[in-house]
This record gives sequence, structure tokens and C-alpha cells, in this order.
Amino acid sequence: MQLNSAYARASSSAGGLCMDGNIYCRQKCSICGAKLVHDERRRGFFCTVHPHVMATGGFYIKFPGGIRRASKCYDTMMRQLTAMRYETDQDRFDPRMHRPDNPLAFDKLARVYIAERKTDPISDNMKRQIENKLVQAIAVWGDRPVKAIGRREIKHFIKGLTNQRTGKPLSNKSMVNYSSVLHHFFTKWLVEEEYLMPHEVPAFPEIKYELGWRKITTLEKQDEILDVLRERTRHNPKIWFGAELLRTYPTMRPGDLHRMKEEDIDLEFGVIDMPKPTKGRGQRKIVRLVDEHVEVFREFRERYPAMPGMPFLRHCANGTNYKRDQQMGENCFRRWWNRVCDDLGVEGVQLYGGTKHTTTTATAKMLSREAAKAATGHTTDKAFLRYCQTKGEEALAVHQQVVEKRKKKNSGKVVSLG
Ligand SMILES: [Zn+2]
Repeated sequence: MQLNSAYARASSSAGGLCMDGNIYCRQKCSICGAKLVHDERRRGFFCTVHPHVMATGGFYIKFPGGIRRASKCYDTMMRQLTAMRYETDQDRFDPRMHRPDNPLAFDKLARVYIAERKTDPISDNMKRQIENKLVQAIAVWGDRPVKAIGRREIKHFIKGLTNQRTGKPLSNKSMVNYSSVLHHFFTKWLVEEEYLMPHEVPAFPEIKYELGWRKITTLEKQDEILDVLRERTRHNPKIWFGAELLRTYPTMRPGDLHRMKEEDIDLEFGVIDMPKPTKGRGQRKIVRLVDEHVEVFREFRERYPAMPGMPFLRHCANGTNYKRDQQMGENCFRRWWNRVCDDLGVEGVQLYGGTKHTTTTATAKMLSREAAKAATGHTTDKAFLRYCQTKGEEALAVHQQVVEKRKKKNSGKVVSLG
């Protein structure tokens, strides 16, 4: 492997301290033209005949491994020579760190990495994300050798980032995104490409982040919001029902709802079967509906007849800016959700956190209690993940459980267009 030879000791000093390489000077005595001689004690190069004549530049060093460095400054040269000798002593001398073309420069390598990712089978959005994050790192680290970027540098970079629009510090979740891009670059790519040895990979700072706990609410509050939402959107009950679906089936995303067509709703089997969901790359998404929701869909179908290809989220009547059966805007839910939250004095709970995350979290808590009872040893996190991934029958059972719980609390009245 190339690296091993690159790391081979360039030193010839067996046992003792490395004294490899040396410092030289091109300047001559300005009086007699003689070579100036190195005097380490006086820290410079002097004429042996005219001791007050001192070299003012033209210093250079030669070091085994084909290394030549030059500078006008004697101290700089001595520091570099000492560093290389020290690294040799430590058995970690890498000539690439000292070559003038700087083959380990972060900016150069990061750009190669970005270019390579462009041919990866990942989404364009992901490619843009990677490029955007590395370009910001390039602005900070420039041509610093990748070997000189450690845990501390990475931590300072990530903690120092601000939101490009608001100028506020990044959320921990965003920090984790930056960290994972850098992590792949440093710990995988640089090693595979033999720029770093596995033991040279920097440790990464630990960034704690929770799944937006502050942005969720309780099931009780969720009920309250849904009730008000329902009252306020009587002109189009699909707005309330959409939120109801989002909070009951956490695999369903607002984008899915917006794309859902009448033909995707199979009332015979009680499922929503979406051939092209927003996430999942071509995999169809099937959501088993609880009976109450099948009934609501049936009522909708009677009240608002439709052709199979029509979007489910259509306006139910003519309005000032829209016509009956016209598809509702994508932000419709969000707008109504925020309006109702404002009125109820609920702060910072977005549609997603207030429906999906609130339900999953509450359910995970419910499930983990049972899991604890059964002594399966599942941690809350595992139960949570398991819940998020459950499909089909298992998911239906969970959704049913949530709906039952709501029913009990509301003494029977659950869902109906009323
Ligand atoms: Zn002289």
C-alpha cells in the first residue's frame, strides 16, 4: 500500500533523536562574497570573516522524502525542520504534510468528494445538501491539511454555524446533519481513498438532539385543537379530516394527503393505497384504516361524488378564490392548523409535530409500558422505532388502540361528519 511507504521512517538515526535534513542559505557575504555559515546559537547565517554580516533571507531546508521548503524567515525554516524531525521521532512523519503542492488540502479533497457524490445514486436534494455543507467547511478550513483537522476543529466549526437566513444558531438537528456529512467524508471516504489511516480519523463531537420534544403537545391538547379545527372548517370538513388522518396514521405525510386521489381510497378493503407516496421511492404506501374512518370516507363519497382520478382534497363548495372540486392548496392544512393554534394560545406546535409526532410519542409511551409489562426488555426508543416502522395488521392494531383511547376519553363520540 502506498501509505505504508509514505510513512516509512525517513530517518537514519537508529536509537537517537532524529537529526535528518538540514537548513541552508543562498545568500553570500555582502562584503567578501563568501558563503554564509549556519550558527545555531546565534540563530542565523553569518560570514566567518565578517561576523556582523547576517543573512536576511534565502533560507531553505532539505529533508529526506524529497522535501524542499524555502522561506525568507530563518525561524520559520527552523520550526519546520524541527517539526519534521520530531514527527520522524514519533514515527508519524508524512511527507505529504510538507509538500508545497499540499496534497492533503481540505478544500481540494472536499471538491473531489463533492464531484464524486454527483454520480452517486442519491437524490438531487441530498447532493445539494452535501455540497452546501462542505462549501461552508471549505470557507473555514481552506487548504488546511485534512490531517490537521481534529475533533476540536470540527466541533468549533459546527458550533459556530448559524442559520443562513435568520442568523440564529443552528438547531441541534441541523448540527447533526452537518456532522454526518463531515463524518462520512473524514471517516469513510478519506480512509478509502488512502488520504488518512484509520487511526488518524478524527473523533467526532457528540451532539445530543431529541426528536423535537418541545414541539409536540399532548393527546388532550391535540383533541382540543382538532375539535376547534372541526368547528371552524365546517365549510370544508376535509380540512379537519385530513388532520385527523395525519394524527392517526403517522406514516401518512401531508404531501401524501395532498396527492391522494379518490381511486386510492379502497373502502371495500378499508385501505388507502397510494402507488406514489412522497417518500419511499416508488414503493407504494398502504395504510389500513380504522372502521370509523372508512365510514367518514363513505360519507364524503356520498356527499361529494367524484371521478376516480380526482384529488381527495378538493374544495367542497365555491369560494372567493376557488371553485367547487378544485384541488385544495398544499398549505391549506398548515394555515388552518396555525390559525387554530394561535386562537387556542398553543405556541410553536406545527402541523407535523402536533399530529404525527404527538401521536407517535404518546403511542410509544403506551407501548413501552406494555412492553415493560411483558418484560421483553424493549427500551422506549426501540418501541418507538418499532412503532414507526410497523405496517399492515400490526399498525392497524396500534391505530385502533389510539382511537379507542380517544373514544374512552370523549365518552363515545369519536368521528363522524355530524
Ligand atoms: Zn565576508
